[in-house]
Formats: sequence, C-alpha cells, structure tokens
Amino acid sequence: MEGVLRWADAVSFFGDELVQHERFLSRATQTTYGLLVSRSVQQGQTLLENREGEHAEERLVLSPFWVSGVVNALESWDVRDAPMVVMLAINRAPCASCSHILAGELHALHRRFPLRVEKQYFILASLGYYQGRDFMTNQLSPNTLNTRSVGSQRSQSVTTDRGLNELSDAGWRLCVMDFGHGVTSRGSELLNFLRHR
Ligand SMILES: [Zn+2]
Repeated sequence: MEGVLRWADAVSFFGDELVQHERFLSRATQTTYGLLVSRSVQQGQTLLENREGEHAEERLVLSPFWVSGVVNALESWDVRDAPMVVMLAINRAPCASCSHILAGELHALHRRFPLRVEKQYFILASLGYYQGRDFMTNQLSPNTLNTRSVGSQRSQSVTTDRGLNELSDAGWRLCVMDFGHGVTSRGSELLNFLRHR
C-alpha cells in the first residue's frame, strides 16, 4: 500500500466531491492545504473536511470530524463490516510536530478500539517532502508559539524521517499522490524514502 496513490482512484472511491480540492492539493504552494475524508461502505457515505494554513493536518485530526465522526464510526463498526477508509491528503508531507500529533491520535484510537482500528485503512497521502522555507517561521499558528525557541519551532516545521517513521509505526499508510502526470520531484524523494526505509 505504501507507494503511489493515484488521485483518479481516490476520486472513484470517495466520489466527485473530491474534485474541487484537487487544485489545492496538487500544488506545493506556501499555504498548507489538508483534506480529511472518510468512507464506509455500509453507510455509503463520504465525509469531508478541509483546513488551510500552517499545521492544517494537526487541526484536522483535532477537529470534530476526527474526535467524534471517526470515533463514532468505529464505535458502530462491526467486525463483519467492510473496512472503513480514512484518508488525510496534504499538499506536502506533515512537519515533525504534526507527525507526532497524527501518530499519537492513531495510537489513541488503537488503544480505544484495539481490534477494530487494525481492520480499517488510515491513509496519509502527501504531495511530497517538505524541507522548510523561510516563510515557515513567520507562519506558525498561535498554539505553537509557546515556550519553545524559534530555532526548535523551525525544526519542528519541516518533514523529518523520524516523523514519517513515527506515522508509519502508528499505522498510517504513507503514500505520494499522483495527479495524472507522475509524482513531483519532492514526491519522488518521499517515495524513495518510503521504499527504502
Ligand atoms: Zn505541522
């Protein structure tokens, strides 16, 4: 599963509601764009939620979509049901700080629903590595501006191999999005890491 995720496949699976998000997810602009989407075959329902701006992915897993929507779906899921698919798509890879939070949230679900969570698919689809740029230090969201120094904030704001490993160990299936023209150069760097780690 770790590898390339074709956007067209995601649209076929989750539905046409995804199409309007393509232009934000397919470009590594200076604004982070994250989309959280889930589908359960039983309910025949696709749910979507998006966030923009710094640490969008962190805000998505702390949103009601995750803390009540995903939790409720797991609560009502039966072992005879088809797996639920939850996808978090981002126009870059998560920073170290968000990776830690995303991993922690999935670990928490595993602890709460040990036999159920391992039957579902939690996909983390990224456009490519994010190594940080100067603007990052100016775009930290207020809740990260605590006692940490600017230097450590910056190192927390880029993608790290450790963060990616943490996500994978928690059960996130990491993949790189292909919007029909092959993966980006940052995407192929990420793919290379995923395939050789
Ligand atoms: Zn982040």
